[in-house]
Amino acid sequence: MATAETRREELKAVWQQAQACTKCPQLAATRNTVVFGAGNADADLMFIGEAPGANEDKQGLPFVGQAGRLLDRLLDEIGLARADVFIANTLMCRPPGNRDPLPGEIDACQDWLFKKLELIEPRVVCTLGNFSTKLLRADPATGITRLHGNEEIRRIGPRTVRLYPLFHPAAALYTPSMLEVLRTDFARIPELLALPALDQPEPEEPELIVPEPEVVAELAEPPPSQPESSQLGLF
Ligand code: URA
Repeated sequence: MATAETRREELKAVWQQAQACTKCPQLAATRNTVVFGAGNADADLMFIGEAPGANEDKQGLPFVGQAGRLLDRLLDEIGLARADVFIANTLMCRPPGNRDPLPGEIDACQDWLFKKLELIEPRVVCTLGNFSTKLLRADPATGITRLHGNEEIRRIGPRTVRLYPLFHPAAALYTPSMLEVLRTDFARIPELLALPALDQPEPEEPELIVPEPEVVAELAEPPPSQPESSQLGLF
């Protein structure tokens, strides 16, 4: 079982690698920052939204605009704060003009998301809106309107979690009835967090790769120096 400190350190290392991601050439060329995610590396509860918008892209943090303020309010109403949870997105880079994420981009970013899940080990994962819900349920045909507020036990990458789909807070910004649905769904989160921990799949054996001699020489080079602090937003 990882300690909070080792989780934080490992997550920082992944954060650092993610800053240089160029898997999606268009997004890498147009983004200002890679919005890795932020919050508590040791959180039991993780939220996964869609993709950074203009504010998030500027600040390098998820959910810092209007939808983020509503998310903060909904958390506060159930006695939680950002420092208690981890917040990430399906994509780490802003799609230009806030267009929808493309299937190839979601695919390319998925390993980063799974790595976060593997290191943070949340018990409950709330997807916010259609994109993350469809990705994590591996079912592009069933949307959030049908699924919201119904938890299910799901294997997601390396973890088995309680998956709890919710409407995206942006959908509730101008629709009071939607806000009430979100409030009702949020109210069940403490109950889900109190349920017993789930059995986890056996970790996969890492493949043993014997490096070629020249690769060994390269690995012997000292790593580039790392910045003292990072734009992690808590951790
Ligand atoms: N919407 C999202 O899905 N993610 C953000 O970070 C901000 C708005």
